[in-house]
Amino acid sequence: MRIVIKVGTSTLAHTTGKLNIRAFEELTKVIADLKNSGHEIILVSSGAIGMGTGKLGLSTRPKDTPTKQAAAAVGQCELMYMYDKYFGEYHHTVAQMLLTSDDFEDKEKYGNLSNTLARLLELQALPVINENDTVSTAELGIGDNDTLSALVAVGAKADLLVLLSDIDGLYTADPHKDKDAALIKRVEKTDESVFALGGESASDLGTGGMKTKLNAAKLVTDKGIDMIICNGTKPYLLYDIAEGRPVGTRFIGKKQ
Ligand code: GLU
Repeated sequence: MRIVIKVGTSTLAHTTGKLNIRAFEELTKVIADLKNSGHEIILVSSGAIGMGTGKLGLSTRPKDTPTKQAAAAVGQCELMYMYDKYFGEYHHTVAQMLLTSDDFEDKEKYGNLSNTLARLLELQALPVINENDTVSTAELGIGDNDTLSALVAVGAKADLLVLLSDIDGLYTADPHKDKDAALIKRVEKTDESVFALGGESASDLGTGGMKTKLNAAKLVTDKGIDMIICNGTKPYLLYDIAEGRPVGTRFIGKKQ
């Protein structure tokens, strides 16, 4: 299977903005193992701004664009250094791709990015993708990595997109507020009734919330690709996913 896995800042970093070493170690180990078993993996990783915030010793995630972009420049470097180090232990080669919305809108750039991705997978490398936050801003750019990962899944003709989140999946109500909220295991059609369930919430260090995840679901399922939202604190769930067991919430791709 060709799987795009998106991991968010809240999974990779502590609230201090420093790397969550245990989470990082477990996640990279499972992904390395999935690659060893023959799956093609593309990782879309957030964490540049979050980790830059930690590395620069800033007390909170910056709000102004130049500081955000500076933090991203610092944090992206740290992020790739850590991925290289951890995946390197399992003899996997990482490849950084930093993309902007232009790369998906301009036909020629889109062709280039799809070709590069395909070639990297043929070469058994592990593409690690993020938005090029040093030049694009949330307002003008793609803005969040849920959307970016959906665009990547379509461009890479993936079989599946997995969004690793800080929540088990999509619920019938906000599980932080309503104890009767139940996990929805399968969404056959990502329509307005589904969007009505998603709030606007976002964590302190990341940017996404349920809304961007549902937008991502709409984007990929329209192209026939399934998407799963599951809990990023349990990376071994990726084994269950690869083996076809139900995990989190699965959004079913439209029959093409
Ligand atoms: N690209 C941003 C980063 O690496 C994160 C975007 C997101 O959290 O969705 O910090």
